[in-house]
Amino acid sequence: MAVIPVALAGRAYDVVIEEGVLERIADVAAPFLKGYASGRRVPFVADTNTHRLYAPAITANLAANGFTPDWFVVEPGEDAKTWGVLERLCDWLLALGVTRKDHVFALGGGVVGDLVGFACAITKRGCGFVQLPTTLLAQVDSSVGGKTAINTRAGKNLIGAFHQPALVLIDPLVLATLPPREMRAGYAEVVKYGLLGDAAFFAWLEANANMVLAREPQALEHAIATSIAMKARIVAADERETQDLRALLNLGHTFGHALEAETGFSDRLLHGEAVALGMVLAARYSARRGEIGTADAERAAGAIAAAGLPASLSALGLACTGTVLARHMRHDKKAEGATLPFLLLRKLGEAYVARDVDLTDIAAFLDAELAA
Ligand code: ADP
Ligand code: ZN
Repeated sequence: MAVIPVALAGRAYDVVIEEGVLERIADVAAPFLKGYASGRRVPFVADTNTHRLYAPAITANLAANGFTPDWFVVEPGEDAKTWGVLERLCDWLLALGVTRKDHVFALGGGVVGDLVGFACAITKRGCGFVQLPTTLLAQVDSSVGGKTAINTRAGKNLIGAFHQPALVLIDPLVLATLPPREMRAGYAEVVKYGLLGDAAFFAWLEANANMVLAREPQALEHAIATSIAMKARIVAADERETQDLRALLNLGHTFGHALEAETGFSDRLLHGEAVALGMVLAARYSARRGEIGTADAERAAGAIAAAGLPASLSALGLACTGTVLARHMRHDKKAEGATLPFLLLRKLGEAYVARDVDLTDIAAFLDAELAA
Protein backbone atom coordinates (compact mmCIF):
# COMPACT_ATOMS: atom_id res chain seq x y z
CA MET A 1 0.00 0.00 0.00
CA ALA A 2 1.19 3.50 -0.77
CA VAL A 3 -0.31 6.94 -0.24
CA ILE A 4 1.12 9.68 -2.41
CA PRO A 5 0.10 13.26 -1.64
CA VAL A 6 -0.35 15.76 -4.44
CA ALA A 7 0.68 18.99 -2.71
CA LEU A 8 -1.43 21.68 -4.34
CA ALA A 9 -2.14 24.64 -2.07
CA GLY A 10 -5.79 24.61 -1.05
CA ARG A 11 -6.55 21.56 -3.18
CA ALA A 12 -4.12 18.96 -1.89
CA TYR A 13 -5.27 15.39 -2.37
CA ASP A 14 -4.06 11.84 -1.91
CA VAL A 15 -3.46 9.07 -4.37
CA VAL A 16 -4.01 5.75 -2.59
CA ILE A 17 -2.56 2.62 -4.20
CA GLU A 18 -3.89 -0.50 -2.50
CA GLU A 19 -4.99 -3.92 -3.64
CA GLY A 20 -8.71 -4.38 -3.13
CA VAL A 21 -9.29 -0.73 -2.26
CA LEU A 22 -12.44 -0.59 -4.41
CA GLU A 23 -14.08 -3.24 -2.23
CA ARG A 24 -13.44 -0.99 0.77
CA ILE A 25 -14.47 2.22 -0.89
CA ALA A 26 -17.00 3.25 1.77
CA ASP A 27 -14.21 3.38 4.36
CA VAL A 28 -11.44 4.84 2.26
CA ALA A 29 -13.60 7.50 0.58
CA ALA A 30 -15.67 8.20 3.72
CA PRO A 31 -14.99 11.98 3.82
CA PHE A 32 -16.34 12.29 0.27
CA LEU A 33 -19.46 10.24 0.96
CA LYS A 34 -20.59 12.12 4.06
CA GLY A 35 -23.05 14.32 2.19
CA TYR A 36 -24.90 11.24 0.94
CA ALA A 37 -25.54 9.84 4.41
CA SER A 38 -29.05 11.29 4.33
CA GLY A 39 -30.05 8.71 1.73
CA ARG A 40 -29.30 10.72 -1.41
CA ARG A 41 -27.93 8.54 -4.18
CA VAL A 42 -24.19 8.65 -4.91
CA PRO A 43 -23.35 9.41 -8.56
CA PHE A 44 -21.02 6.88 -10.18
CA VAL A 45 -19.97 6.91 -13.83
CA ALA A 46 -18.51 3.88 -15.63
CA ASP A 47 -18.33 2.41 -19.10
CA THR A 48 -20.12 -0.84 -19.88
CA ASN A 49 -16.95 -2.87 -19.23
CA THR A 50 -15.92 -1.35 -15.93
CA HIS A 51 -19.57 -1.32 -14.82
CA ARG A 52 -20.02 -5.02 -15.57
CA LEU A 53 -16.74 -5.99 -13.91
CA TYR A 54 -16.52 -3.75 -10.85
CA ALA A 55 -19.86 -2.09 -10.11
CA PRO A 56 -21.20 -5.13 -8.18
CA ALA A 57 -18.41 -5.11 -5.57
CA ILE A 58 -18.59 -1.34 -5.16
CA THR A 59 -22.37 -1.34 -4.89
CA ALA A 60 -22.24 -4.14 -2.31
CA ASN A 61 -19.68 -2.35 -0.16
CA LEU A 62 -21.62 0.91 -0.31
CA ALA A 63 -24.91 -0.82 0.47
CA ALA A 64 -23.34 -2.53 3.49
CA ASN A 65 -22.46 0.95 4.74
CA GLY A 66 -25.81 2.55 4.09
CA PHE A 67 -25.10 4.25 0.74
CA THR A 68 -26.88 3.79 -2.59
CA PRO A 69 -24.92 4.45 -5.79
CA ASP A 70 -26.67 5.51 -8.97
CA TRP A 71 -24.81 4.53 -12.14
CA PHE A 72 -24.42 6.49 -15.38
CA VAL A 73 -22.97 4.04 -17.90
CA VAL A 74 -21.37 5.07 -21.21
CA GLU A 75 -20.19 3.02 -24.18
CA PRO A 76 -16.47 2.17 -24.04
CA GLY A 77 -14.13 4.20 -26.22
CA GLU A 78 -13.43 7.78 -27.21
CA ASP A 79 -17.01 8.34 -28.44
CA ALA A 80 -17.98 8.90 -24.82
CA LYS A 81 -15.89 12.09 -24.79
CA THR A 82 -18.37 14.10 -26.86
CA TRP A 83 -20.60 17.14 -26.36
CA GLY A 84 -23.66 14.85 -26.53
CA VAL A 85 -22.57 12.54 -23.73
CA LEU A 86 -21.27 15.47 -21.69
CA GLU A 87 -24.69 17.14 -21.94
CA ARG A 88 -26.52 13.99 -20.86
CA LEU A 89 -24.11 13.48 -17.96
CA CYS A 90 -24.41 17.07 -16.70
CA ASP A 91 -28.21 16.91 -16.96
CA TRP A 92 -28.16 13.63 -15.04
CA LEU A 93 -25.99 15.13 -12.29
CA LEU A 94 -28.31 18.11 -11.98
CA ALA A 95 -31.35 15.84 -11.88
CA LEU A 96 -29.70 13.93 -9.03
CA GLY A 97 -29.36 17.22 -7.19
CA VAL A 98 -25.58 17.24 -7.05
CA THR A 99 -24.23 20.21 -5.10
CA ARG A 100 -20.81 21.87 -5.18
CA LYS A 101 -19.91 20.06 -1.98
CA ASP A 102 -20.72 16.65 -3.47
CA HIS A 103 -18.35 14.22 -5.15
CA VAL A 104 -18.95 12.24 -8.32
CA PHE A 105 -17.08 8.94 -8.73
CA ALA A 106 -15.41 8.02 -12.03
CA LEU A 107 -14.78 4.28 -12.52
CA GLY A 108 -12.86 3.57 -15.71
CA GLY A 109 -9.94 4.42 -17.92
CA GLY A 110 -8.86 7.79 -19.23
CA VAL A 111 -12.05 8.21 -21.20
CA VAL A 112 -14.36 8.04 -18.18
CA GLY A 113 -11.94 10.08 -16.06
CA ASP A 114 -11.61 12.88 -18.63
CA LEU A 115 -15.35 13.03 -19.23
CA VAL A 116 -16.35 13.02 -15.56
CA GLY A 117 -13.61 15.46 -14.60
CA PHE A 118 -14.80 17.95 -17.18
CA ALA A 119 -18.48 17.47 -16.31
CA CYS A 120 -17.58 18.16 -12.67
CA ALA A 121 -15.53 21.23 -13.63
CA ILE A 122 -18.61 22.87 -15.16
CA THR A 123 -21.55 21.47 -13.18
CA LYS A 124 -22.64 24.13 -10.69
CA ARG A 125 -19.35 25.89 -11.67
CA GLY A 126 -17.41 23.03 -10.15
CA CYS A 127 -18.30 20.07 -7.97
CA GLY A 128 -15.96 17.48 -6.52
CA PHE A 129 -14.95 14.17 -8.03
CA VAL A 130 -13.06 11.03 -7.11
CA GLN A 131 -11.02 9.08 -9.65
CA LEU A 132 -11.16 5.27 -9.59
CA PRO A 133 -8.85 4.55 -12.56
CA THR A 134 -9.06 1.04 -13.99
CA THR A 135 -6.51 1.06 -16.83
CA LEU A 136 -2.76 1.16 -16.28
CA LEU A 137 -2.65 4.33 -18.38
CA ALA A 138 -5.20 6.07 -16.17
CA GLN A 139 -3.57 4.73 -12.99
CA VAL A 140 -0.10 6.05 -13.80
CA ASP A 141 -1.03 9.16 -15.71
CA SER A 142 -4.41 10.60 -16.59
CA SER A 143 -6.21 10.21 -13.23
CA VAL A 144 -3.72 12.49 -11.49
CA GLY A 145 -3.04 16.12 -12.35
CA GLY A 146 -6.45 17.57 -13.15
CA LYS A 147 -6.40 17.68 -16.95
CA THR A 148 -9.96 16.99 -18.12
CA ALA A 149 -11.41 17.24 -21.62
CA ILE A 150 -13.73 16.05 -24.34
CA ASN A 151 -13.12 15.68 -28.09
CA THR A 152 -14.76 17.83 -30.74
CA ARG A 153 -14.86 17.97 -34.53
CA ALA A 154 -11.66 20.04 -34.48
CA GLY A 155 -9.65 17.46 -32.56
CA LYS A 156 -8.98 15.54 -29.37
CA ASN A 157 -9.04 17.14 -25.93
CA LEU A 158 -9.47 20.68 -27.28
CA ILE A 159 -12.35 21.54 -24.94
CA GLY A 160 -11.53 21.03 -21.30
CA ALA A 161 -10.49 22.44 -17.98
CA PHE A 162 -7.99 21.98 -15.20
CA HIS A 163 -10.01 20.47 -12.38
CA GLN A 164 -8.27 18.42 -9.71
CA PRO A 165 -9.88 15.32 -8.18
CA ALA A 166 -10.40 15.21 -4.42
CA LEU A 167 -9.03 11.68 -4.16
CA VAL A 168 -7.59 9.01 -6.45
CA LEU A 169 -8.07 5.35 -5.48
CA ILE A 170 -5.92 2.92 -7.44
CA ASP A 171 -6.70 -0.78 -7.13
CA PRO A 172 -3.97 -2.67 -9.03
CA LEU A 173 -6.12 -5.84 -8.85
CA VAL A 174 -8.49 -4.47 -11.51
CA LEU A 175 -5.67 -4.68 -14.04
CA ALA A 176 -6.14 -8.47 -13.98
CA THR A 177 -9.00 -8.07 -16.46
CA LEU A 178 -7.39 -5.41 -18.63
CA PRO A 179 -6.68 -6.69 -22.17
CA PRO A 180 -2.90 -7.26 -22.68
CA ARG A 181 -2.74 -4.69 -25.46
CA GLU A 182 -4.22 -2.00 -23.17
CA MET A 183 -1.77 -3.09 -20.45
CA ARG A 184 1.20 -2.61 -22.78
CA ALA A 185 -0.15 0.75 -23.97
CA GLY A 186 -0.32 1.97 -20.38
CA TYR A 187 3.16 0.60 -19.76
CA ALA A 188 4.48 3.04 -22.38
CA GLU A 189 3.58 5.92 -20.05
CA VAL A 190 5.45 4.14 -17.23
CA VAL A 191 8.59 3.96 -19.38
CA LYS A 192 8.02 7.67 -20.07
CA TYR A 193 8.66 8.52 -16.42
CA GLY A 194 11.93 6.62 -16.44
CA LEU A 195 13.13 8.26 -19.64
CA LEU A 196 12.11 11.78 -18.70
CA GLY A 197 13.34 11.95 -15.15
CA ASP A 198 14.66 8.82 -13.45
CA ALA A 199 17.48 6.79 -15.00
CA ALA A 200 17.48 4.28 -12.11
CA PHE A 201 13.75 3.64 -12.61
CA PHE A 202 14.35 3.20 -16.34
CA ALA A 203 17.04 0.60 -15.60
CA TRP A 204 14.68 -1.11 -13.14
CA LEU A 205 12.01 -1.26 -15.86
CA GLU A 206 14.50 -2.77 -18.32
CA ALA A 207 15.00 -5.59 -15.82
CA ASN A 208 11.39 -5.94 -14.65
CA ALA A 209 9.15 -5.22 -17.64
CA ASN A 210 7.89 -8.78 -17.79
CA MET A 211 6.98 -8.78 -14.10
CA VAL A 212 5.05 -5.54 -14.46
CA LEU A 213 3.26 -6.67 -17.61
CA ALA A 214 2.43 -10.00 -15.94
CA ARG A 215 0.89 -7.95 -13.12
CA GLU A 216 3.18 -9.40 -10.45
CA PRO A 217 1.83 -7.46 -7.42
CA GLN A 218 5.05 -6.02 -5.99
CA ALA A 219 6.52 -5.03 -9.34
CA LEU A 220 3.23 -3.52 -10.41
CA GLU A 221 2.84 -1.45 -7.26
CA HIS A 222 6.43 -0.22 -7.53
CA ALA A 223 5.88 0.81 -11.15
CA ILE A 224 2.61 2.62 -10.39
CA ALA A 225 3.85 4.30 -7.20
CA THR A 226 7.11 5.51 -8.78
CA SER A 227 5.23 6.90 -11.78
CA ILE A 228 2.61 8.67 -9.67
CA ALA A 229 5.20 10.06 -7.26
CA MET A 230 6.96 11.72 -10.17
CA LYS A 231 3.72 12.99 -11.67
CA ALA A 232 2.60 14.34 -8.27
CA ARG A 233 5.88 16.19 -7.84
CA ILE A 234 5.68 17.73 -11.30
CA VAL A 235 1.99 18.69 -11.03
CA ALA A 236 2.51 20.29 -7.61
CA ALA A 237 5.31 22.45 -9.01
CA ASP A 238 3.72 23.38 -12.35
CA GLU A 239 -0.02 22.64 -12.22
CA ARG A 240 -0.99 24.49 -15.40
CA GLU A 241 2.08 23.78 -17.52
CA THR A 242 3.16 27.41 -17.40
CA GLN A 243 6.81 26.48 -16.90
CA ASP A 244 8.66 23.80 -18.80
CA LEU A 245 8.35 21.30 -15.97
CA ARG A 246 4.88 19.83 -16.62
CA ALA A 247 5.65 19.87 -20.34
CA LEU A 248 8.22 17.13 -19.68
CA LEU A 249 5.27 14.77 -19.26
CA ASN A 250 4.66 15.23 -22.99
CA LEU A 251 7.79 13.26 -23.89
CA GLY A 252 6.97 11.20 -26.97
CA HIS A 253 3.61 12.93 -27.36
CA THR A 254 4.36 15.34 -30.23
CA PHE A 255 5.66 12.56 -32.47
CA GLY A 256 2.94 10.32 -31.03
CA HIS A 257 0.19 12.80 -31.77
CA ALA A 258 1.26 12.96 -35.42
CA LEU A 259 1.13 9.16 -35.62
CA GLU A 260 -2.32 9.07 -34.00
CA ALA A 261 -3.56 11.74 -36.42
CA GLU A 262 -2.16 9.87 -39.42
CA THR A 263 -3.85 6.63 -38.30
CA GLY A 264 -7.12 8.48 -37.68
CA PHE A 265 -7.07 8.10 -33.87
CA SER A 266 -8.22 4.55 -34.48
CA ASP A 267 -7.58 1.14 -32.94
CA ARG A 268 -4.74 0.80 -35.42
CA LEU A 269 -2.57 2.67 -32.95
CA LEU A 270 -3.59 3.18 -29.32
CA HIS A 271 -2.49 6.37 -27.57
CA GLY A 272 0.11 4.52 -25.49
CA GLU A 273 1.45 2.75 -28.57
CA ALA A 274 1.82 6.07 -30.36
CA VAL A 275 3.60 7.52 -27.33
CA ALA A 276 5.90 4.47 -27.20
CA LEU A 277 7.00 4.95 -30.79
CA GLY A 278 7.03 8.71 -30.23
CA MET A 279 9.56 8.27 -27.43
CA VAL A 280 11.75 6.10 -29.65
CA LEU A 281 11.65 8.83 -32.28
CA ALA A 282 12.42 11.53 -29.70
CA ALA A 283 15.40 9.47 -28.51
CA ARG A 284 16.68 8.88 -32.03
CA TYR A 285 16.18 12.52 -32.95
CA SER A 286 18.11 13.51 -29.82
CA ALA A 287 20.91 11.23 -31.00
CA ARG A 288 20.77 12.82 -34.46
CA ARG A 289 21.34 16.18 -32.77
CA GLY A 290 24.25 14.67 -30.88
CA GLU A 291 22.62 15.12 -27.48
CA ILE A 292 22.61 11.47 -26.51
CA GLY A 293 24.65 8.65 -28.02
CA THR A 294 23.17 6.26 -30.54
CA ALA A 295 23.65 3.43 -28.06
CA ASP A 296 21.44 5.22 -25.53
CA ALA A 297 18.76 5.90 -28.14
CA GLU A 298 18.78 2.21 -29.02
CA ARG A 299 18.57 1.33 -25.32
CA ALA A 300 15.35 3.34 -25.14
CA ALA A 301 14.08 1.63 -28.29
CA GLY A 302 15.03 -1.75 -26.83
CA ALA A 303 12.99 -1.17 -23.67
CA ILE A 304 9.96 -0.23 -25.79
CA ALA A 305 10.35 -3.20 -28.15
CA ALA A 306 10.88 -5.63 -25.25
CA ALA A 307 7.46 -4.65 -23.91
CA GLY A 308 5.85 -5.59 -27.22
CA LEU A 309 5.31 -1.95 -28.14
CA PRO A 310 6.04 -0.44 -31.57
CA ALA A 311 9.64 0.77 -31.80
CA SER A 312 10.04 1.16 -35.55
CA LEU A 313 8.31 3.70 -37.79
CA SER A 314 8.88 1.72 -40.97
CA ALA A 315 7.24 -1.35 -39.40
CA LEU A 316 3.98 0.61 -39.05
CA GLY A 317 3.59 0.59 -42.82
CA LEU A 318 2.30 4.16 -43.09
CA ALA A 319 1.72 5.40 -46.63
CA CYS A 320 2.81 8.97 -45.94
CA THR A 321 5.91 11.14 -45.97
CA GLY A 322 7.78 12.80 -43.14
CA THR A 323 6.39 16.13 -44.30
CA VAL A 324 2.83 14.89 -43.82
CA LEU A 325 3.64 13.73 -40.29
CA ALA A 326 5.37 17.04 -39.51
CA ARG A 327 2.29 18.88 -40.75
CA HIS A 328 0.10 17.02 -38.23
CA MET A 329 2.36 18.40 -35.50
CA ARG A 330 1.42 21.98 -36.34
CA HIS A 331 -2.06 21.21 -35.03
CA ASP A 332 -0.66 20.07 -31.70
CA LYS A 333 -2.21 21.91 -28.72
CA LYS A 334 1.29 22.92 -27.68
CA ALA A 335 2.02 24.66 -30.97
CA GLU A 336 2.75 28.36 -30.47
CA GLY A 337 2.34 29.95 -33.88
CA ALA A 338 4.98 28.55 -36.21
CA THR A 339 7.17 27.00 -33.53
CA LEU A 340 6.59 23.84 -31.63
CA PRO A 341 8.45 22.95 -28.45
CA PHE A 342 9.91 19.45 -28.70
CA LEU A 343 10.65 17.16 -25.80
CA LEU A 344 14.10 15.72 -26.32
CA LEU A 345 16.61 13.79 -24.21
CA ARG A 346 19.79 15.19 -22.74
CA LYS A 347 20.47 11.72 -21.43
CA LEU A 348 18.43 8.67 -20.51
CA GLY A 349 16.47 9.88 -17.50
CA GLU A 350 16.63 13.58 -18.38
CA ALA A 351 14.25 15.23 -20.83
CA TYR A 352 14.20 18.91 -21.76
CA VAL A 353 12.15 21.26 -23.90
CA ALA A 354 13.91 22.22 -27.13
CA ARG A 355 12.59 25.38 -28.81
CA ASP A 356 14.96 25.45 -31.75
CA VAL A 357 13.64 22.45 -33.64
CA ASP A 358 13.00 23.03 -37.32
CA LEU A 359 10.02 21.10 -38.66
CA THR A 360 11.71 20.60 -42.06
CA ASP A 361 14.54 18.82 -40.25
CA ILE A 362 11.95 16.73 -38.38
CA ALA A 363 10.39 15.83 -41.74
CA ALA A 364 13.77 14.76 -43.15
CA PHE A 365 14.46 12.70 -40.03
CA LEU A 366 11.04 11.04 -40.30
CA ASP A 367 11.59 10.27 -43.98
CA ALA A 368 14.75 8.40 -43.01
CA GLU A 369 12.90 6.54 -40.24
CA LEU A 370 10.01 5.66 -42.60
CA ALA A 371 12.52 4.15 -45.02
CA ALA A 372 14.71 2.43 -42.39
P1 ADP B 1 -7.33 4.76 -21.50
O1 ADP B 1 -7.23 4.71 -20.03
O2 ADP B 1 -6.18 4.13 -22.18
O3 ADP B 1 -7.69 6.13 -22.01
P2 ADP B 1 -10.07 3.72 -22.03
O4 ADP B 1 -10.75 4.48 -20.99
O5 ADP B 1 -10.42 4.00 -23.45
O6 ADP B 1 -8.49 3.78 -21.91
O7 ADP B 1 -10.23 2.16 -21.78
C1 ADP B 1 -9.69 1.23 -22.66
C2 ADP B 1 -10.55 0.00 -22.75
O8 ADP B 1 -10.33 -0.83 -21.62
C3 ADP B 1 -12.07 0.28 -22.76
O9 ADP B 1 -12.67 -0.63 -23.63
C4 ADP B 1 -12.47 0.00 -21.32
O10 ADP B 1 -13.82 -0.38 -21.21
C5 ADP B 1 -11.56 -1.13 -20.97
N1 ADP B 1 -11.25 -1.29 -19.54
C6 ADP B 1 -10.94 -0.29 -18.68
N2 ADP B 1 -10.56 -0.80 -17.50
C7 ADP B 1 -10.67 -2.14 -17.60
C8 ADP B 1 -10.41 -3.22 -16.70
N3 ADP B 1 -9.92 -3.02 -15.48
N4 ADP B 1 -10.64 -4.47 -17.16
C9 ADP B 1 -11.08 -4.68 -18.44
N5 ADP B 1 -11.31 -3.72 -19.32
C10 ADP B 1 -11.11 -2.46 -18.91
ZN1 ZN C 1 -0.23 10.18 -22.86
